[in-house]
Order: sequence, then structure tokens, then C-alpha cells
Amino acid sequence: MTDLLDRIRAVVGEANVIVDTRLEDYEHDGTFLQHELTAAVLPAGTEEVAQVVKLCAETRTPLTTRGAGSGLVGGPVPLSGGLVLSLERLTQLEIDAPNLMAVAGAGVVNGNLDAAAAEAGLMYPPDPASKEISTIGGNVACNSGGPHCLKYGLTADYVVGMTVVLADGSVLKLGGRIRKRSSGYRLLHLFIGSEGTLGIVTEVIVKLVPRPRHQATAMVGFASIEDAAAAVRRVLHSGHLPAALEMMNQEALEYVGHFLPAGFKPGHEAVLIIEQDGNDREQVLLQLAEMVEILDGIDNRVAQSEAEREGIWNARRQFGQVLVQLRKNVFSEDVAVPISMIPEMVHRFHALGLKHGVAMPTVAHAGDGNLHPALVFDEEQRQLVGPIAAQIFRDAVELGGTISAEHGLGALKRDFAALEHSAEEIAWWRRLKDLYDPLGILNPHKIFPEQPADDHFLDQQPGWGRKLASGRDRSEVAT
Ligand SMILES: Cc1cc2nc3c(=O)[nH]c(=O)nc-3n(C[C@H](O)[C@H](O)[C@H](O)COP(=O)(O)OP(=O)(O)OC[C@H]3O[C@@H](n4cnc5c(N)ncnc54)[C@H](O)[C@@H]3O)c2cc1C
Repeated sequence: MTDLLDRIRAVVGEANVIVDTRLEDYEHDGTFLQHELTAAVLPAGTEEVAQVVKLCAETRTPLTTRGAGSGLVGGPVPLSGGLVLSLERLTQLEIDAPNLMAVAGAGVVNGNLDAAAAEAGLMYPPDPASKEISTIGGNVACNSGGPHCLKYGLTADYVVGMTVVLADGSVLKLGGRIRKRSSGYRLLHLFIGSEGTLGIVTEVIVKLVPRPRHQATAMVGFASIEDAAAAVRRVLHSGHLPAALEMMNQEALEYVGHFLPAGFKPGHEAVLIIEQDGNDREQVLLQLAEMVEILDGIDNRVAQSEAEREGIWNARRQFGQVLVQLRKNVFSEDVAVPISMIPEMVHRFHALGLKHGVAMPTVAHAGDGNLHPALVFDEEQRQLVGPIAAQIFRDAVELGGTISAEHGLGALKRDFAALEHSAEEIAWWRRLKDLYDPLGILNPHKIFPEQPADDHFLDQQPGWGRKLASGRDRSEVAT
């Protein structure tokens, strides 16, 4: 390994191979999962990434790609040790306004891309709640979504080109600055959502859209979460398409309610945040008012200023930060069900939380049927988390949904892949993995099931119970 690290230093420079106490930052993501590694390598561009990967392939060294480490399924956690390849230095960004495109290095933070697009009157719509920290490379690797994906579509709907370094260190360029293409296989889409297991995305070309000039946002309170879920279905069947339709239950509001603007603190069991956008201010306000009426809540509050609007969204986004702060004691879910099944799914996990006495603060990209109940537990409740999470997965699949709408399978959900995907489909995944990464060096132990998908699936996870994979406590790890 020393020889390999010396050769890597010669490629990326001494300062960009981390082997000291800073390594701790690269051991985990936004979850409790944690694993030691040998070194974090910070290349400056595609060519350096390619050279590092070639050296890893030569020495069969496991390599885990990392963006900002905000993932919520253990994706960038280096479960085989080895090297973490952090793309944080790949921050070159070009806004190609005439073509309504952006060309971004994988390490560009989502919010920075959108802010740069805004200067040209354009917008990059996929907006995960982690937009101020997560990278475009990570977003592509997970096919991330966000509040405005209801109207505008997911990351996959915006990627039209990319540069990928394959597992042997060769460089593949796919797509380009055009909005339509019907020539050949869409290899591009194979890498979207592949969670760093098939190749390393170093640069992405994404479509931009004209930025709507006006937005109007309201917060609507409901007496029960079931009422809120029924209202979601009602508004989506009414002929309106809101720009965003988010849900928060009372427990989630308790964590972030103090971020809400004064006068926006409903004490109800659930709220919906609804937004409309467009270029005609009167139309936007009218449509919002119509939708609020259809929602038929018990308490309607419309943001009267941009500051109030931003305050509502800030509170919604802050919930993700809460999860990160609680990461040792929270397991965050990401299921989605068909729109017609939202009320049933909400009812089931609400009942599950009550039955086991486990707090389940919940936020949801409700318009997409994408629900994020978070299991918050103390030490006595730890053994309940696996069974509850497993039941939520089973319920989502039974209702025709998915165990992961936007976070990926990573390590934490990989064992449940077969619940949703047939054996034949997973066999095709394995063939693709063998084809693209025959040595299995890219992000090992992710996506593919390895252990029985039972209620005890969390028991063997490194980091669960605050122990590292080696069994040592954090404090004992050599620095
Ligand atoms: C506060 C908070 C809020 C969140 N809200 C949302 C949300 O609303 N919607 C949503 O979809 N997600 C959300 N997430 C989850 C997370 O932010 C997303 O999955 C995000 O896309 C991860 O980006 P990242 O740069 O942090 O990637 P990382 O966490 O570093 O990596 C994620 C996965 O992608 C792989 N990867 C990263 N970069 C590359 C690359 N360039 N090439 C190949 N593989 C790569 C990694 O190996 C890993 O498997 C949230 C997380 C937090 C902490």
C-alpha cells in the first residue's frame, strides 16, 4: 500500500493524499454507518482520476467514490477499506446560456450550479433538500430528487452528457449539448443511479430551463396525517400540477418549527407545503388559491413575501440537517408508492410508529408519493429499528412502490433489493457489474444483496451500535 500511495502522490500531489486524522471525515456519510480506510485521494480532474483508477486496478485496491458524503444509505462509506476517491476538487462550471445547458465538474455543489444558472435567468430544477451541500456527481450517482421534481422531473431527466472513468482507468465520453438524441443505446442512463459501482462520473452536461419569474407558496394544516395524505391525492387529481407539494408531520415540525416565519407555526398533526410558479404573477396566485381550496385544510397560511417563502423552505430543508446531527440514532426511510396508495402507506407507517412507541418524524415529497419517515431511537429502542424498517420496505413493495425513491440502495438497503426486483433482473445487474468492473474494485458491498433480508439486517452493519467494523471504538482508532 505504501508503494501505491507514493505512486498516487506522484499523480495528484502530496497534499491531496490524506492519511492523517482528517480521514475520519471520509469514513461515513449522513448515516450511522462508518468504516476505516487507508487514504482519501483528492484528484484535480478527469485525467488524474483515470491515472489513480489505473493504479488501483493494477493493485486490485478497492476504491469508493465520494461527493459530499451527504448520502443516506451508506453509499460512500468505504466498506472494504482501501481508498476513498473524493471529487470535491472537480468544481469547474460553465453556464452555456445560448444552449440552455451547464457543464459541471462532478464536485460542483447543486445549489452553486442553480445559483450560477439563475444569473443567466435559467434554472437547474432538481433540488434535493441537501442542495447546499450535495454534489452534482453524487446527485447523478443516486438519481436524486427534490421538492420541485414533482413538476420538473428528476436528475435523470436533465443529464444529457457525461464523462466517466471506467474501472480500468479508461475514459468514456457520452452525450453532448443537445436536448434530444435517438441514436444508439442510452449508456448515459446506465451510470445514472449506479451509485459509483460501474464508473466514476467526472463531468456532467445538464439541461437548464427558463427560471419562472414568480412563485407563490402556502402552508396548509391538517387535523391528521391521513387527512393530509388524502388531500395530496385530491389536488393531484384536480387538473392542477403544483411546482411542489411537500408534507411534514407534527414530529418533524417539532424539530424545525422554530425556523418557520412568525405566524407559520401550526400546531396540527400534519402540514402540506404547496407552491406554484410561472411568469404571470396573477395566474400563479390564482392557481395557488384554487389548490389551497381543494386541499381543504383547517388552517391556510400563504407566504406574503419572499422572506416568508424562503423561511418555509428553509424549515423544510433544515429537517435534513437534523437527521445528520442525529445520525447515530436515526434510520431515515425513502419509500415511494403510487399516488393512489399514499393515504394507505401513511396510515401504515403511522400505526407502526405508534405500535412500537418509536418516534417517526416524517417529511415527504408527497406529490411524488415519496415518503421519508425517520426512525429516531434511543439505546433501548435500537433493536426495534430493523423490524420496523423492514416492515416499511415490505409495505411499500406490497402497495406497488419502491424501497428507495431517491437515496439509492447503498449498503443499508442492498439486502432488500430482491424484495422489489426479480432474481432475473438482479442477475442482469450482476452481468453489467462484471462487464464494467470485472475486478470488483468500484464501491464494493453496495447495491447487491449479501445477507438475508430479515428483521435483523441492521445487526451486522459497521457503525451500528457505535463500533467500527474492526470492533474497536472510535476513540481507539489510530490517527
Ligand atoms: C440534509 C440532507 C437532505 C437530503 N435531501 C435529499 C433530497 O431531498 N433528495 C435526495 O434525493 N437526496 C437527499 N439527500 C441524500 C443525499 O444528499 C443525496 O443522495 C445526494 O445526491 C448525495 O450527494 P453527495 O455529493 O453527498 O454524494 P455522496 O454521499 O458522497 O455519495 C453518494 C453515492 O454516490 C456515489 N458517487 C458520488 N459521487 C460520484 C461520482 N462523481 N461518480 C460516481 N459515483 C459517485 C458514491 O459512491 C455513493 O454511492 C439528503 C441528504 C441530507 C444529508
